Amino acid sequence: MIKVAINGYGTIGKRVADAVAKQPDMEVVGVSKTSVSAEAFVAKKRGYPLYIADIGKKAAFEKAGLDVAGDVEAMLKAADIVVDATPGGVGEKNRPVYERLGKKAIYQGGEEHEVAGFSFNAHVNYKEAEGHQFARIVSCNSTGLVRIISAMDQAFGVDRVRAVMVRRASDPGDVKRGPVDATVLNPATIPSHHGPDVNTVLPDVNIVTLAMIVPTTFMHMHAIQMDLKKETTREEVLKVFENHSRIGLVRKATGIKSNAQLREYAQDLGRPRADVWENGVFEESVSVLGGKEFYCFQAIHQEADVIPENIDCIRALMGTVKDPEESIRMTNKALGFVAIR
Ligand code: NAD
Repeated sequence: MIKVAINGYGTIGKRVADAVAKQPDMEVVGVSKTSVSAEAFVAKKRGYPLYIADIGKKAAFEKAGLDVAGDVEAMLKAADIVVDATPGGVGEKNRPVYERLGKKAIYQGGEEHEVAGFSFNAHVNYKEAEGHQFARIVSCNSTGLVRIISAMDQAFGVDRVRAVMVRRASDPGDVKRGPVDATVLNPATIPSHHGPDVNTVLPDVNIVTLAMIVPTTFMHMHAIQMDLKKETTREEVLKVFENHSRIGLVRKATGIKSNAQLREYAQDLGRPRADVWENGVFEESVSVLGGKEFYCFQAIHQEADVIPENIDCIRALMGTVKDPEESIRMTNKALGFVAIR
């Protein structure tokens, strides 16, 4: 069993912990928090040993009825690998301690590529991960883009990608962020940083991205256009998506045309936390004009799509499963993940 520590038990960390706990070849040796919060009580209920960043706060945790197993360093010592899901920028500060203890670490998209020196996507560069001490899972938007671009590139060749990201304002539990009544160009300059982030995994792709933020909490929406090298048809593209292990087709027959309806659908399907781990490509939107011009809309659940990537990255860095397809199958099966279609 691979012993996994989760440093930072928030939006991403709590999902990674539950996904690790479900895998047949991994166990959660601890999760860490900075302060007493609802999530710390969830960790206790799940039976995850709770460690804290500042051991000086131990008394406050214990007063609240939360047992503290030790400080973060003690958690790291008990682990083979750590998933760092602390807020952007904190992971970089944690790097020296991972180096000192000789622990492998997986960072999230809030860190710069340079912090790990290797950015990961299971479908693209799983085999290159072995031997690295550090890896970084690209952001939720970039993960969604990398999946669909690499799938299209493999099938038809991609000349160039142009994409507009309509981004959620905040995560549902984050009451401090907005906007609540505005569409904010973010950034107003073009291109946005998402294209270069995609290039950390797919260096040869010609991509330009634009981004804005809207008042919603569930999912980003991408409007994507790609120029293809090989002529194809809408039907051929749909076949590629149907056969992809992390792309789901939101069928026209469901009548779903929004993030809100997709969340309701995921909830009704019994997905934990209504998580949509796959790219939700709207079947109706899939279009090929003149043989080589591809268009679609896809929904990307910001809290969820990076979770299975973290799980595959654990196996890839540890070198325990050599074949990416095998790891992806194991991850999906353990999560009970049957793609929406
Ligand atoms: P979050 O704020 O929800 O959770 C971060 C957790 O880390 C909190 O529980 C906090 O208590 C804890 N923490 C803070 N400082 C710490 C420290 N020094 N040591 C240990 N724990 C500490 O953040 P999040 O949204 O889960 O984001 C985590 C990372 O994942 C960021 O890099 C972010 O960019 C990336 N990411 C977030 C999303 C998203 O939609 N939320 C999507 C993809 C990637």
